[in-house]
Amino acid sequence: MGKTLLEKVWDLHTVRTLPTGQTQLFIGLHLVHEVTSPQAFDALRIRGWNVAFPERTFATVDHIVPTRERKRPFLDVMAEDMMAALERNCREFGVPLWNLGDERQGIVHVIGPETGLTQPGLTIACGDSHTSTHGAFGAIALGIGTSQVRDVLATQCLAIEPLRVRRIRVNGGLPRGVYAKDVILAIIRRLGVRGGVGYAYEYAGDTVGRMSMDERMTMCNMSIEGGARVGYVNPDETTFRFLEGRRFAPAGDAFDAARAWWSSLASDPDARYDDDVELNAAALTPVVTWGTNPGQSVGVDESIPVPDEAPEAERPGLKDALDYMGFKPGQGVEGVKIDVAFIGSCTNARLSDLREAARIVRGRRVAPHVKALVVPGSASVLHAAEREGLDEVFREAGFDWREAGCSMCLGMNPDKLEGRQVCASSSNRNFKGRQGSPTGRTLLMSPAMVAAAALAGEVVDVREIVQ
Ligand code: SF4
Repeated sequence: MGKTLLEKVWDLHTVRTLPTGQTQLFIGLHLVHEVTSPQAFDALRIRGWNVAFPERTFATVDHIVPTRERKRPFLDVMAEDMMAALERNCREFGVPLWNLGDERQGIVHVIGPETGLTQPGLTIACGDSHTSTHGAFGAIALGIGTSQVRDVLATQCLAIEPLRVRRIRVNGGLPRGVYAKDVILAIIRRLGVRGGVGYAYEYAGDTVGRMSMDERMTMCNMSIEGGARVGYVNPDETTFRFLEGRRFAPAGDAFDAARAWWSSLASDPDARYDDDVELNAAALTPVVTWGTNPGQSVGVDESIPVPDEAPEAERPGLKDALDYMGFKPGQGVEGVKIDVAFIGSCTNARLSDLREAARIVRGRRVAPHVKALVVPGSASVLHAAEREGLDEVFREAGFDWREAGCSMCLGMNPDKLEGRQVCASSSNRNFKGRQGSPTGRTLLMSPAMVAAAALAGEVVDVREIVQ
């Protein structure tokens, strides 16, 4: 019987099975940011411990950094304290910090891949739920909490429950105007936001095989929104081409040796899966969330559900989401007026996302009542986009062009919704209050759909714009 990639990588990193039945798993790469690390470093300091493997630990700042005015000290005292704590901790414990002004600064899940730190076969941990992004490379990438950040800093190990594997095969050509974001939103809609609990999601099929690494990252990024602890894609030539020449990737003969080993990690053809699901990509349409979790979505040409027509158990949740969002049962999602358009986040702020959004806004104007902003995922993405003139395309259309960071994905920096504003967002969470206003409303969609909504001032079908 063959093995899945998850089993192979898991076995290679297992230190031992603990009496609890958990695995003590060695972590190959630990990514650190300013929000979930201060107490973890403090715990080490109190006990007089060191970081066990500083050479496997890298830090950056993303969640709390302002994207417009970066002068220190920040006006937000709490944000300044977090920044100062990370700087002090990295200095004291010998951890490299990619700080503001560094070309490698950016959202932690963008900079890991773009520097070549993220590689197939690694176990990766980071104190952020969307660490699953790195699974696009065939890594087992785990989002962890602050106490586990402490554990990994001190021991380079995690105690973790074994996972089952659900293979999700996506086949067929993606229709015009339908993107990786729509595929993952459709998967979450079908399997539910808790459908992946206890599972790793293996994304396979010819659609995924044709996807770029950026698209695969978008898919894996949102695995956690479907309840899966990790999501991954088996490494292939697309993966290897992406990694070759990157700063932390092996070079020369070492790259060839690594490529052979990486290839051997892919799930075997006769591997056994705990579950198997298929999705027809050719039948998908652009997806928009209408509710307060990423599973509450519809195709852009569909209507918002009517609770009374749903199974009894689902009705309270649907009613609550409709009340919060202020939508009527059965109304169309197309035509919903927006106040803010946000293109950014670790889901969709890579260069290819910005290129596709720029293709839509080029030569057009943002609707007068819409505040629109583009926040590149990293300093490197920002500069690459500027070299292509994308910043000018966005500025001329009426978008704000910002510095790299998490920005309006969550309300921990100055970029926040106000009051009941409705935001068309390329991010990954539409929870109540997620974007900084306790009553703010988030509609998740692809960056192309956000761009189209910014121009129209309301949700529109991007298929009517893209060629
Ligand atoms: S962009 Fe959003 S989801 Fe991604 S790391 Fe930042 S806050 Fe988390």
